[in-house]
Amino acid sequence: MVSPYQTLKEEVWEANLQIPKYGLALFTWGNVSAIDRAKGVLAIKPSGVPYDELKVEDIVVVDLDGKVVEGRLRPSSDTPTHRILYRAFLNIGGVVHTHSTYATAWSQAQQPLPVWGTTHADHSPAEIPCTPVLSKAQVERDYELETGNLIVDTFLQAKPARDPEVTPMVLVGGHGPFAWGKDASKAFYHAVVLEEIAKMAIMTRIASGSFPVPGLPDHVIAKHYERKHGPGAYYGQK
Ligand code: 13P
Repeated sequence: MVSPYQTLKEEVWEANLQIPKYGLALFTWGNVSAIDRAKGVLAIKPSGVPYDELKVEDIVVVDLDGKVVEGRLRPSSDTPTHRILYRAFLNIGGVVHTHSTYATAWSQAQQPLPVWGTTHADHSPAEIPCTPVLSKAQVERDYELETGNLIVDTFLQAKPARDPEVTPMVLVGGHGPFAWGKDASKAFYHAVVLEEIAKMAIMTRIASGSFPVPGLPDHVIAKHYERKHGPGAYYGQK
């Protein structure tokens, strides 16, 4: 019998296979999920299964409380983080976590990623925030769930609040990147963008030597973001 979640599982399987293809993680480091909001479920990679062995039928379907609805395998250990993001960011349809080298390096530096160039501004006009490292109490309470709460707080409790649609990515301090989007494929695209802009930022630091990095003026940031995402966007084809 065909699963009622077959399309969702195929979408998630395909997106997970992109992780090694784009060199975003080694071994089993990383996970992609997608949600079906009408059905109230998300599909996610099973924990610790190598990408080259991953089959569509291995993808696990869970509800927003974390109960397994379909699948023989244990869901990704990061499933609670994904669940929290879907609960808080109501317009997202896919979430990606990887340990991609440059974004993880920046996460380990525990600093936000400033807008230093137009590649960044093309995708977000704002710095990519970096959460604090989780406290001992948060880790002991529920590590992965609290990672989700920390990401959500970093967006919604900030003054002014950050819009997760305008900045569809974050660095978790000491851990690594999470990205999201309207579906799994767009979330994956944002994970690749984050890795690339983190790489460029690290190179920029090296290139500027002992001088401070000048940063990009606001009018150039706004121009690049608006021409792709603003009301009068003209980038690409009609
Ligand atoms: P899972 O295999 O459980 O998804 O874990 C991968 C990972 O990246 C942990 O942070």
